[in-house]
Amino acid sequence: MKQNLLDFDAAGLTAWFAGMGEKPFRAKQVLRWLHQFGEDDFERMSDVAKSLRARLAEISEVRLPQVLRDSTAADGTRKWLLDVGNGNAVECVFIPEENRGTLCISTQAGCALECAFCSTGRQGFNRNLTTGEIIGQLWWAKKTLGDFRDSGCGQAPRRIAETDFSTDRIISNVVLMGMGEPLANFENVAAALHLMLDDNAYGLSRRRVTVSTSGILPGMDRLRDECPVALAVSLHAPNDALRDRLVPINRKYPLAELMATCRRYLDKAPRDFITFEYVMLDDVNDSEEHARELVRLVRDVPCKFNLIPFNPFQDSGFKRSPSLRVRRFAEILMQAHIVTTTRKTRGEDIDAACGQLAGQVRDRTQRRVKRTITIAETTS
Ligand code: SAH
Ligand code: SF4
Repeated sequence: MKQNLLDFDAAGLTAWFAGMGEKPFRAKQVLRWLHQFGEDDFERMSDVAKSLRARLAEISEVRLPQVLRDSTAADGTRKWLLDVGNGNAVECVFIPEENRGTLCISTQAGCALECAFCSTGRQGFNRNLTTGEIIGQLWWAKKTLGDFRDSGCGQAPRRIAETDFSTDRIISNVVLMGMGEPLANFENVAAALHLMLDDNAYGLSRRRVTVSTSGILPGMDRLRDECPVALAVSLHAPNDALRDRLVPINRKYPLAELMATCRRYLDKAPRDFITFEYVMLDDVNDSEEHARELVRLVRDVPCKFNLIPFNPFQDSGFKRSPSLRVRRFAEILMQAHIVTTTRKTRGEDIDAACGQLAGQVRDRTQRRVKRTITIAETTS
């Protein structure tokens, strides 16, 4: 199979070019054509030597996941279902807002972590996405939305200042909050992040790229050292007993260690706070006492809270907390001077809201079978 050029970040492409006896500046030229101009036709890479263009066309390609479905919700949220082979699909969601456009991308086909309230977790794990499949989501969305720079201009990219919120880009922010656990696919995710931040590629500021993790602690430390972007941590419970149940990775990496790792992350983070995500589950984790316990838990971690109304899916076994209870919960956090927002649910009519991303993963872990057996055992 031909080499997919989307699998390389700048360092990878330079090394691959070196293997062909090509100079680093050639790799930089091609990187810019691919990721700044969204060009996938080597013939049109006009400043690249003709012989090199021909060689590249022979041995490499720009391979993107095929789009199986493209749906737009009433609120403008757009979702692409992407084929990643072997009967697997992942989803990528664009969320337009007044002053920014956020692309939510997937990092794995399925997820092995089995969070109790997550439909991706329910499906089991199939495989890690490649770098090309991860960055391909951004590439595809930019192409479709007309967000690549016009290759006719040949000018240096316009940098967006860190403080400039009136960005002229359609996709101004990227969040790794789609299907899968980004830090369980570290290498490929890190290469994709490098491309997002690279001035010769997408040139996004670190503050505008967010990794969301359920709390894989070694991965958080590595991210801090290798590619510190904004960090969101899926907390969902104020104590180990409850979190062990809701987010099973907590049994391996409990809350005290998670809090210490968050503090370490902040040394290098582009923002001076961690975002904690907290899905509001009716009568499970949403009482006033839970809120007070949370305040005590995060006492030493500068943070903001993002409360997420639970998005139901078939046989989830959970219900969304009533909005009054969510409001009371938020009030308690805010009284403790913690900035708290409640996430607006977007794209519900096309199943594009958090935790509803399902794809059609072929479950290699046979979780569905195991679950059926467990249910059969407990009911017999
Ligand atoms: N694996 C990573 C990122 C993907 S999940 C993580 O867990 O952080 C993105 C966010 O959606 C997480 O905060 C996750 O807990 C949340 N989520 C999962 N299922 C949900 C559901 N059914 N309703 C609302 N949010 C959900
Ligand atoms: Fe995986 Fe995140 Fe879903 Fe948990 S919430 S199962 S870590 S995708």
